[in-house]
Amino acid sequence: MDVKVFVRSPRKDMKASPWEIEDAEAESIPIIDNHSPLEFVVKNGKLAGMLFDRVKATYDDNGKRKLFSTGEPPVFVECDLVLLAVGQQNAFPWIEDSTGIKMNDRGLPVVDKMTHQSTVPHVFFGGDAAFGPRNVITAVAHGHAAAISIDLFCRGRDLYDRPGPKTALIEQKMDMHDWLYDSQVSEDRRFTVPTVDRVKSLQDRLLEVELGYDRKKGHKEAMRCLNCDVQTVFDHSTCIECDGCVDVCPVSCINFTENGEEENLRGRLLAPADNLDQPLYVSKELPTGRVMVKDENVCLHCGLCAERCPTASWEMKKYTYTSPMAGQK
Ligand code: SF4
Ligand code: SF4
Repeated sequence: MDVKVFVRSPRKDMKASPWEIEDAEAESIPIIDNHSPLEFVVKNGKLAGMLFDRVKATYDDNGKRKLFSTGEPPVFVECDLVLLAVGQQNAFPWIEDSTGIKMNDRGLPVVDKMTHQSTVPHVFFGGDAAFGPRNVITAVAHGHAAAISIDLFCRGRDLYDRPGPKTALIEQKMDMHDWLYDSQVSEDRRFTVPTVDRVKSLQDRLLEVELGYDRKKGHKEAMRCLNCDVQTVFDHSTCIECDGCVDVCPVSCINFTENGEEENLRGRLLAPADNLDQPLYVSKELPTGRVMVKDENVCLHCGLCAERCPTASWEMKKYTYTSPMAGQK
């Protein structure tokens, strides 16, 4: 069986998830981009192939893409079966202008991004119907956000005065062996999920292709967890500036130094903080006039600073995130 995937857009704009593309390629299916379908070619009442127009993409200042024909002769691809993956588009012909629901130039309702309220106050939109193609997780999140708005709306409250994410910091000052991670720092990428042999999977389209991890590989994958829910938290009020944490930190990311302008401070650290996207963690002033400065970008979350600190000024704290629910005060 000879299968090919043709895509209108450049490959980088494909709507498919990267792992879906990888799965297709693992089955030796070529992906041919920048080919826009022109017509089915039928000979003697039978499908003989398809004609494609070669296109190229241009992007405006807002990143909006337009495809233009390259003007080359159409490409004919012989085939006996075509599976269309046309995606989806909103169609709201049943929403008449008289309802007051305004649509934008893409045919999508004008919706407030936070409240999901349309131009008619008691009508709310979410998911693909509101903002175009997204994934199901986003649609569920929109549902939650819209439910909060609807609840506030029904109670006559301000839709923008909504509960912020409810967060809780749970302190976990524990013996090192209670929280010491089993996982070592690893540069492994996500392990590939094993699949059925390609010959078998191509013979039976109902066959479950992904086999899932076996116990050993599943364990190894779980061991890649970086425990980023556990953070180092510093309490300047109890620090006696013994510098024990500075000595023990394996990556030299803790510093006690004079405060200063950020650029100057970044260059003065034991390990210069080069990642400008990662803010520095700077404490309030300590009794000697210095501040504690930590470069979060290189911290391994190893917890040795918390273990060493004689006054529990460093603690490993677990961060638990709870999202708000409709009706929450
Ligand atoms: S958790 Fe480890 S790497 Fe991070 S600051 Fe503490 S000792 Fe250094
Ligand atoms: S080990 Fe604790 S008390 Fe000593 S400098 Fe570090 S945070 Fe301060």
